[in-house]
Amino acid sequence: MLTLDRAAQTAQSYIHRVLEDVEKRNPGEAEFQQAVKEILESLVPVFAKHPEYEKLGILERLIEPERLVVFRVPWVDDEGKVQVNRGFRVQFNSAIGPYKGGIRFHPSVNASIIKFLGFEQIFKNALTGLPIGGGKGGSDFDPKGKSDGEIMRFVQSFTSELSRYIGPDQDVPAGDIGVGAREIGYMFGQYKKMRGAYEAGVLTGKSPGFGGSLARKEATGYGLVYFMEEMLKAHGLQFEGMSVVVSGSGNVSIYAMEKVLELGGKVVACSDSSGVIYDPQGISLETVKQLKEVDNQRIGAYINTHPHAELIEDCEQIWSVPCDIALPCATQNEISETQAQQLVANGVIAVGEGANMPSTLEAVKVFEQHDILFAPAKAANAGGVGVSALEMAQNSARLSWTFEEVDGQLKQMMQSIYRQCTETAEEYGHSGNLMAGANIAGFRKVADAMIAQGVI
Ligand code: GLU
Repeated sequence: MLTLDRAAQTAQSYIHRVLEDVEKRNPGEAEFQQAVKEILESLVPVFAKHPEYEKLGILERLIEPERLVVFRVPWVDDEGKVQVNRGFRVQFNSAIGPYKGGIRFHPSVNASIIKFLGFEQIFKNALTGLPIGGGKGGSDFDPKGKSDGEIMRFVQSFTSELSRYIGPDQDVPAGDIGVGAREIGYMFGQYKKMRGAYEAGVLTGKSPGFGGSLARKEATGYGLVYFMEEMLKAHGLQFEGMSVVVSGSGNVSIYAMEKVLELGGKVVACSDSSGVIYDPQGISLETVKQLKEVDNQRIGAYINTHPHAELIEDCEQIWSVPCDIALPCATQNEISETQAQQLVANGVIAVGEGANMPSTLEAVKVFEQHDILFAPAKAANAGGVGVSALEMAQNSARLSWTFEEVDGQLKQMMQSIYRQCTETAEEYGHSGNLMAGANIAGFRKVADAMIAQGVI
């Protein structure tokens, strides 16, 4: 016991030294530092058990991206004026497969955001059990209010540069916030033109009409709910009869809501950056889909057809809506410590992260202290990238699987991720802590592959 404690202390001080170094070497990159801290702190029991990892510099190698590309993206707007944005691609780790991860178009995008997302992606992708490394990319381009022509010209310029670094066996981008099937289509067209070859597996999230996988659109949201279903079941609970709040109203939120409804839950609120819709009778998914997938409208328009619903013109208010289950599916750090306390005070029993890093470190502590069932993003939202890997498999085989086939594999994948997280948490003395389980299971898989491949 004494030696184990000493081993844990040694591991802890080593990890703290590495974290101090991360702060020094990545100044001003708050989100990246946060993501690294969240993962490294849960690795103490691993380093206590495997002190040999320190000598091999596994952590020092893991926190340093293999490559970070930053590039100029010039494009011409509808008035004929030249605009310039900044493009990024981080190729973080390729120990278990080609770099894989989405592209985000949002004005908040910078090196810190892209590096936090890329770092998380390494572990998430490892948990899927499929051969994909970790990467991420994006631009500070704001798609809001842009015409279709502007989007296309921007994407073509972005892809002209990005195409030097990507390929089906090299780096495979996909969508994320602000990037859906339309943008992926333009990327694919430009890439194909530049390469002079039809390499379907270079991008995922394509339209099913030209190599996209059925159920990819639904995968992140459905996967989140499949994961939550497992977690609830293990505690004698189910979605049936539960009231659910889902932040956001993009791809992840919409298909999380769809699956919750299918399982008998009641969604009472959703949001976008302009506000929150609270509908005590239950959100009409049909209306949300029409507004968001067809009409490209703000969520507030919901009350035009559902006058009994309430519009709160402040998206941060979403966590003040009482619920049994909270599914943050909008963006990073959308649940602060205070908002977590509010959810707990209102009786929340489970939280499932559909977005990437939606809870701050302090918010996660609040959930832990109050024994809230907590499904961390890198496990719970892995279904999106998991089905992307299935799209890559279909492209390699030049085949298309049915919706049922892909959805069935997605469900099994989420059940297996849940099992890995619980078993690993248990093995390392953190029974019930799925965050620790996810971080440790993902880390071990990548670390072992890195060791086997030598110092590179
Ligand atoms: N952007 C998604 C994520 O955060 C999906 C990435 C992908 O399909 O490659 O995991």
